[in-house]
Amino acid sequence: MAQLVLLPGKDRSLARRHPWIFAGIVDRLNGRARPGDTVDVVAANGRPLARAAWSPESKIRARVWTFDPDETIDDVFFKRHIHAAVARRQAMPGLRGQDGLRLIHGESDGLPGLIVDRYGDTLVVQLTATGPEKWRRAILAALREASGCARIYERSDSDVRRLEGLEPVTGWVFGEAPAEPLVIVENGVRIGVDVVAGHKTGFYLDQRDNRLLTRELAGGRTTLNCFCYTGGFSLQALAGGATSVLSIDSSGPALSTAVDNLARNPELAADRAEWRQADVFSELRVLKSAGHRFDLIILDPPKFAPSAQHAERAARAYRDINVCAFRLLNPGGLLMTYSCSGGIRSEHFQQIVTDAAIDAGRQTRLLRRLAAPADHPVALNFSEGEYLKGLLCQVD
Ligand code: SAH
Repeated sequence: MAQLVLLPGKDRSLARRHPWIFAGIVDRLNGRARPGDTVDVVAANGRPLARAAWSPESKIRARVWTFDPDETIDDVFFKRHIHAAVARRQAMPGLRGQDGLRLIHGESDGLPGLIVDRYGDTLVVQLTATGPEKWRRAILAALREASGCARIYERSDSDVRRLEGLEPVTGWVFGEAPAEPLVIVENGVRIGVDVVAGHKTGFYLDQRDNRLLTRELAGGRTTLNCFCYTGGFSLQALAGGATSVLSIDSSGPALSTAVDNLARNPELAADRAEWRQADVFSELRVLKSAGHRFDLIILDPPKFAPSAQHAERAARAYRDINVCAFRLLNPGGLLMTYSCSGGIRSEHFQQIVTDAAIDAGRQTRLLRRLAAPADHPVALNFSEGEYLKGLLCQVD
């Protein structure tokens, strides 16, 4: 096995069990390795530290599979980790019985570069790094065995793959496309999931708990759902008894799925829903100048800052939409505001929202911090990457 030697004094992040080995701390590779091959990671003095997947084209030159330098990386390794991840979710009361569930959450499940979501008996797999790419056969076999799924679709088309020198790969890798559109039930609401053309793996499972909270808060409230995608928050607001729900998104296909989703739930008051294709940044201003006000506003924008480099511009964008939202709230109104930007830490996000409330001239209190559900764990030694942070605020 080839040996990846770190520069002197550069083993600190590994000692803290951070699984990424950046190019800047690598001295050399002794021996030959192809992309995805397992390499022994050693300190400058030769002390063994870990075993990792080699990725010569990426700035993240290797991702650690194990911090035990003697552990073998083979089919059994993947089988064990995948079974453990599935069992972890089965052990969580709030996750049992969910149709839509993240089964593998990359680094936080000990499997860097692997995302797996389950929608009913369909799995969607995303391989975003050379390591999982190399082990795809073992991974797919273990997933079939651990989940008992009927079919697996591969959505390895995220941009980060290019940084690894990998081409996009999509298609059915086990079983066949289902005859009917895929529909899951999330907390009593039916939602169609397009695993082939939808965003990410088809749906934003990380907002499941927060959508449920929306249902609990929406009763008797006029609601505005910004960045609504296929209507997850909107339908829960209707289910909770919102008096009206205006939903905005810039994507035509997402809105047409949202309309179909509403039709899939005939018990909901469809006459209270309005869907609008627009840019949220300008539409919030249009609503304000037309004198509209709301009792509950949801802001769930896409990732404005994929990494720390983009933080400043992203902070301005977050501030802008949050100022507008605060201005649109009726007295006593609630704002649920989110960021999934890896480049913005939660304290920073809270500061941005605080500044926005001040700019808007609204006395505001924080009622609750909001996060992703337990099927999206965040390993404490790995806080990078997109993870969800949210705030529930109330204005006077
Ligand atoms: N809240 C959704 C997920 C939101 S994902 C859920 O619970 O499922 C972010 C959405 O923002 C996407 O649907 C994308 O189409 C939309 N979007 C991105 N930029 C936008 C903009 N400037 N104005 C309106 N919508 C935008």
